[in-house]
Amino acid sequence: MTRWTIGARHIAIIATVLAVMLIASLLVVARVTSGNYGASASPYRPNPRAASTPEPGGQAASAARGPMRAEPPTRQRAYDGPEGTQRVTGTPSMSLTFDDGPSQYTDEVLDLLDKHGIKATFCVIGSQVRSHAAQMRRIVAEGHTLCNHTWNHDFQLAERTPEQIVKDLVRTNDAIHTVVPNAKVHYFRNPGGNFNHRTVSVAQNLGMVPLHWSIDSRDWETKDAKKICDLVEANAHPGAVVLLHDGGGDRRETTKALKKLLPFLKARYDLVAMP
Ligand SMILES: [Zn+2]
Repeated sequence: MTRWTIGARHIAIIATVLAVMLIASLLVVARVTSGNYGASASPYRPNPRAASTPEPGGQAASAARGPMRAEPPTRQRAYDGPEGTQRVTGTPSMSLTFDDGPSQYTDEVLDLLDKHGIKATFCVIGSQVRSHAAQMRRIVAEGHTLCNHTWNHDFQLAERTPEQIVKDLVRTNDAIHTVVPNAKVHYFRNPGGNFNHRTVSVAQNLGMVPLHWSIDSRDWETKDAKKICDLVEANAHPGAVVLLHDGGGDRRETTKALKKLLPFLKARYDLVAMP
């Protein structure tokens, strides 16, 4: 074996080792980058998993005690809603969210939550806050949390300029703080869930997390207590964020549904207000 051959073999071995090290380090970088989700991560990246991830659901009982429980939602999955919005709690706990209040139905919803020892999150309309100050104070005093749901439920909010969106959301938070001065408004929910990059960006710049949902009770559409119950019970899963309504129309069927739904969920899940 000549000196030249030995040299070539050494070079080949060194090159192989270097290549393996390079691939390994690239894999580590890729892993770290893909795990970098969260409120501070870029919200604009379209997430293909949002469309392809099947809605967890099926039988409620098996969802609670079956495979779903063995695989609790990860923090990574929490932000796979539209435009990178938060869609699930990111923990095994479930959150109920009540939109379009405060209204004449809010007290009954609060009574039912209190009866079952459940904390929830209220996505309030700014223009309704002053006339329902007592309900706002109850929401906060009883340990529930708040979400900004715009001044007047503007379905076209996403089409407005960033300046108009800022004005709407700030006006809403100011109205909230007029009646509950120290309450935190950690979340923002676009009317109709019609988030786009502008509404998400403005909300985040104002210090709010854009909050979507993983279960739409469709109470706004069916207005039928049994259908509301059946739909939520069938789709219930650990980490779920459930869309319900305590305002925005006749909500008698929603409050009726809650009388059965709350004990059902309480027996199977840990229910928390969005923190
Ligand atoms: Zn709404």
